[in-house]
Amino acid sequence: MSRLLIIEDEPDIQTLLRYNLEKDGHMVMVAGTGNDGLHELRRHTFDLVLLDLMLPDRDGLDVCKVMRADANFASIPIIMVTAKGEESDVVLGLGLGADDYVTKPFRIKELMARIKVRLNRNRDDASSGGERRRLQIEKLVIDPVRHRVTVGEDLAPVTLTEFKLLYFLASHPGIAYGRYDLLDRLGDGDAVVTDRTIDVHVRNLRNKIRPYDRYIETVRGVGYRFTEYQ
Ligand code: CA
Repeated sequence: MSRLLIIEDEPDIQTLLRYNLEKDGHMVMVAGTGNDGLHELRRHTFDLVLLDLMLPDRDGLDVCKVMRADANFASIPIIMVTAKGEESDVVLGLGLGADDYVTKPFRIKELMARIKVRLNRNRDDASSGGERRRLQIEKLVIDPVRHRVTVGEDLAPVTLTEFKLLYFLASHPGIAYGRYDLLDRLGDGDAVVTDRTIDVHVRNLRNKIRPYDRYIETVRGVGYRFTEYQ
């Protein structure tokens, strides 16, 4: 059983989602506004968030941004629900750290399948984490069991994608990887992917791990490389 939070203001969609998710055995909470959603996030733990972009009080993109800046919520998968034809919102949302999206009107079967993929992926990552080793580069610590990155005493609010990117690069120091190669290894082949996506992830990641961002080198004409360390 997983715990899901639906942040959505339309009663018909709330009912549809709650009915189908509970039928699949999940525990569901519904918030009708962005602020209520953030409030629920602080009170309970969730495995996934379904986030509508058009909310009465604050933009769903803003909710996404707040979640991704907070280390407590940064690794919770987010599936955005957008109105049709808002491609710019999709690109922006994925850049802010959302994991996937569906456009309204969506087919419930498709959405349920996407939810299942995200939940399984997080479970696989969590269960295989134990075999992977913790990395330490000076005061930068990358913990694959808890998907946590710390810089000295501070927890860096990295998203799951940023975590995977950092862990992969730091596990292979001195080797330059191309953008598409990195995207492949992040296992995000089903989200909207352009080579710009990886630049956005790298930029966000660098901002969060300062001063160790200097270890992530841009290799002209290739992509990125983690500096060799001992
Ligand atoms: Ca709405």
